[in-house]
Amino acid sequence: MNLTLHVDAERWRAHLAATIDALPGIVPVVKGNGYGFGRDLATAEAARLGLGTLAVGTYAEAEDALISWAGDVLVLSAWRPWETLDDPRLIHTVGRVEDLRAISRSARVLIEGATSLARHGLGEPELADAIDAADGLTVEGLSIHLPLAGHGDNARQAARWAAQLGQSQLPAKTLWVSHLNAAELADLSAAHDDLAIRPRVGTALWLGDLDALRPAATVLDVHRVRRGERVGYRQRQITRSGHMLVVGAGTSHGVGLDAPKANRSMVERGKTVARGTLEAAGWARSPFIVDGRQRWFVEPPHMHHSLVLLPDGVTPPGVGDEVTARVRFTTTAFDAVSFE
Ligand SMILES: *Cc1c(COP(=O)(O)O)cnc(C)c1O
Repeated sequence: MNLTLHVDAERWRAHLAATIDALPGIVPVVKGNGYGFGRDLATAEAARLGLGTLAVGTYAEAEDALISWAGDVLVLSAWRPWETLDDPRLIHTVGRVEDLRAISRSARVLIEGATSLARHGLGEPELADAIDAADGLTVEGLSIHLPLAGHGDNARQAARWAAQLGQSQLPAKTLWVSHLNAAELADLSAAHDDLAIRPRVGTALWLGDLDALRPAATVLDVHRVRRGERVGYRQRQITRSGHMLVVGAGTSHGVGLDAPKANRSMVERGKTVARGTLEAAGWARSPFIVDGRQRWFVEPPHMHHSLVLLPDGVTPPGVGDEVTARVRFTTTAFDAVSFE
């Protein structure tokens, strides 16, 4: 296999089980590339854990989930009038009064409240209108989506919506939330024993114990290269003699397509600036680690391969060996997931 996600199965599943125990009412989120595992595999794991509701990102993903998952399927994307998927197991997220009026009366819905994330959802003053507009629908509760960088404010925002839900005419006293930690969820539950709380969790579930996961790419070829020699699609000159690895992972796997990083600290920002200068000079650090360091790409990767330079003094791996790759799980398409 070219790019494999090695999973320490026992450790990973122990983390999944511990997360489920710590977060009562958890709704596993399986969207996009299934957090690196693939949506089929993650869905099967969620089923093994005996959970009843699965959250997916889009209506296209929901179509698959209605086949692969036996329980309810919550769609996180806001429902809009052009969406036609309809199923008794489907739960829609609806955040505009007009959409609550427009959706089929057989639909099960969550009413979405806005938060500081400012993506979708209605404001607190609109809730009464929304409840009117939801007449005839099966409302399964109120949903809020909170930012990742909550700056300590997520619990307060959740508490406000919990209070709104508690006082409202909605019969379904369930608050569906994201991005609250176990302590914040426990506090919220304790303060609102009239409400059921359902945390939607993806990253902290699937990727919460990164030590259980090791992405690695296969070395397909190793060449001796000399300074000045031209190689690759771009016929770039090698800057230092050494070895060039042909690694079996490239842009088709998401390698070399880094999404912008949310750099928080000055040190991280400094590193980005330094990297930017080198990138301006046409250099980029690959995700592949040899001898403890991420090595430079010889040229931008293309489809299924990357060319990586190991300067003299670094012992090259052999053909067929694997090199560990530091990749972003949610943007990487692994060829295989290997449970070990
Ligand atoms: C993606 C998503 C989640 C899960 O987010 P993670 O950070 O992966 O846990 C929860 N709620 C909504 C609405 C989402 O879109």
